[in-house]
Amino acid sequence: TKTLHIVGGGMAGSEAAWQAAHMGVEVVLHEMRPKVETFAHQTGNLGEMVCSNSFRSDDDEQNAVGLLHWEMRAANGLIMSTAEQHRLPAGGALAVDREPFAETVTARLKALPNVTVSYEEITDLPTDGHWIFATGPLTSASLGQAIQQETGAKALAFFDAIAPIIYADSIDMSKAWMQSRYDKGETEEERTAYLNCPMDKDQYEAFIDALLAADKTEFHEGETAGYFDGCLPIEVMAERGRETLRHGPMKPVGLTNPHQPDIKAHAVVQLRRDNALGTLFNIVGFQTKMKYGAQTEVLRMIPGLENASFARLGGIHRNTFLNSPTLLDNQMRLKSRSNIRFAGQITGVEGYVESAAMGLLAGRMAAAEILGLELPEVPQDSAMGALIHHITGGAEAKTFQPMNVNFGLFRPVDGLKGGRRGRKDRYKAYTDRAKAAWQEWLANFS
Ligand code: FAD
Repeated sequence: TKTLHIVGGGMAGSEAAWQAAHMGVEVVLHEMRPKVETFAHQTGNLGEMVCSNSFRSDDDEQNAVGLLHWEMRAANGLIMSTAEQHRLPAGGALAVDREPFAETVTARLKALPNVTVSYEEITDLPTDGHWIFATGPLTSASLGQAIQQETGAKALAFFDAIAPIIYADSIDMSKAWMQSRYDKGETEEERTAYLNCPMDKDQYEAFIDALLAADKTEFHEGETAGYFDGCLPIEVMAERGRETLRHGPMKPVGLTNPHQPDIKAHAVVQLRRDNALGTLFNIVGFQTKMKYGAQTEVLRMIPGLENASFARLGGIHRNTFLNSPTLLDNQMRLKSRSNIRFAGQITGVEGYVESAAMGLLAGRMAAAEILGLELPEVPQDSAMGALIHHITGGAEAKTFQPMNVNFGLFRPVDGLKGGRRGRKDRYKAYTDRAKAAWQEWLANFS
């Protein structure tokens, strides 16, 4: 058939429907609201923003999310052009008046002659037809079960327990060192997968005090169930006993500090490489509910991380997402069932903009497939390409956690640290390169 079915009319599903419809494909958009509700959505509108009303920075020369805005605008994006229409003054950020925004998204989609909106919950993965599932972080329970049945329990997460992620070039290597515990690992790649930051007794005690005192976020209703066994927040571990962390993620065993080979560290914070490029590292076992301000302050107490710059801060919340690096091909199709694509936050991106961006790609890819159009791979140097590449292949599958767009996902310009360029020049180089690559890809559609 020539019809494209899209499940979920949030950021990703709305954008996917718009893109596919503009390519001339018949679209049926299935949305369960208002019949079935989520704990966060308030209306039955398509494109509802569940929390903040901001699409974050609009700076397309110095900011990766601003670059994503630019790329979506260049591709006739529904979410971006509607945001522009309902823009509120917010300095360099793109903030919108959320209610009229969602109403306009709904109206613009319904005004397209080849889009039908069907208000119903979809509870299984159909075996035929072309489908995009964009059901988001709050995917309904019955559909969640059906997905889990297809992918296996381990490949679908219902909670997000994110350890903070740090830019490699902001770590002070005069204090930290590279070593895997007990020097495990056969290959050079495995041996360079870990960085270590040592603490003496005083530093450790001060760190525990700061953790206990830090401001934390409360859980939402329905959020606490089932996460506590596998991934305790570090502050909860610290509450259980001052030594708990030293016997858990901060244990100092099997490691020798080359900067001070004769002194045994009292505790060690370990960081693990988070992407193939080696530009990002996550702090092992450091999921946390500390508020963002408190979090940066406390984490910068760790020797070597005094000037850490964070690609993403830690957190724990309800979030349904796939282990995309193992499950999806480079067009976001389920490897085991190629008639099904996923898009949006459920693929392991994080945020309104990133979700809409992956909807844009999925919509175009699905429509191209239906129309028999061959598409080259999305260029990795564009923000779109950096994201899709990360979730479908670049990220480490074992530790896969949802990701915001950031320059750490891009192939370095002039080597890992950007050569001698300052940060401003480097970001401008990334964004210039990205825009050119993205425009070249878009030319496939004209
Ligand atoms: P959604 O926008 O959630 O859309 C999914 C749609 O699918 C929904 O309309 C849902 O009703 C529908 N659906 C689900 N299951 C079914 C089914 N079985 N059948 C039919 N329809 C179904 N991001 C930010 O950038 N900023 C924030 O401040 C922010 N705050 C957040 C707060 C909360 C509480 C949550 C849960 C998420 C937050 N996010 C935030 C992340 C945000 O949800 C996503 O970035 C974005 O909305 C995801 O887009 P999406 O299209 O993937 O999912």
